Amino acid sequence: MRHNRSVVLRVLVRAFLGLMLLVALAYPLSRLGVFDWPRSFDPLALPDLDQSPSFMTDWQLRLAEADPEGCVAALRRAGLPASLRAERGSGSCVVSGAVSLARLSQAKLRPEDMRCVIAARLYMWERHALQPAARRLLGQPVAEVLHFGSYSCRTMRGRTSMSEHATANAFDISGFRLANGQVVSVKGDWGKSSAAGKLLTAARDSLCDWFNVTLSPDYNADHADHFHVDMGWYRTCR
Ligand SMILES: [Zn+2]
Repeated sequence: MRHNRSVVLRVLVRAFLGLMLLVALAYPLSRLGVFDWPRSFDPLALPDLDQSPSFMTDWQLRLAEADPEGCVAALRRAGLPASLRAERGSGSCVVSGAVSLARLSQAKLRPEDMRCVIAARLYMWERHALQPAARRLLGQPVAEVLHFGSYSCRTMRGRTSMSEHATANAFDISGFRLANGQVVSVKGDWGKSSAAGKLLTAARDSLCDWFNVTLSPDYNADHADHFHVDMGWYRTCR
């Protein structure tokens, strides 16, 4: 019995090492264009914003953050007419690597400049979390994401350090307009047991999956009418 078990173990170890060897050989061949490695599992590829997120997506979005041109290419591949904006601002309020965003996968947006990676993360969140939640809870898609904007040269409220808004590395969402015209607002519907209230809770919870910082009315009174998200150094979900 013990003998059999050690044989099985040896076979499993060899199969595993063989698989690892195959992967190690196949990946460089795929980079040379010999065959297509699935993009969503390629650690050097830019993210495919329309593909369901995998364990590799966050890493790919971080690559896009370091490569604004590549980030713009990822937005374009998803069908957004994106182009890099010229650097603007001065002092602590310089915005670089920004794009103007006027829609996500399905919902439109009052056009706003923001860092490309904020745009890419908003797109993936809307595509893979917000729209499915809206269809499930209210039976229809979100036609517009209502917002208070991204860029604003200012300090954090009540503090001396600069806000992530000063570099367009943040975004404030105030609510949603559904396809039938119904408006779901953070100010009016947060905390309610209605479908609109549930959509807001689902939206806040899923924003936490995509952004380093997510602040809702649960955080403080300054956020009673919007969700703040940013890609600063802290990690908070409240
Ligand atoms: Zn904010």
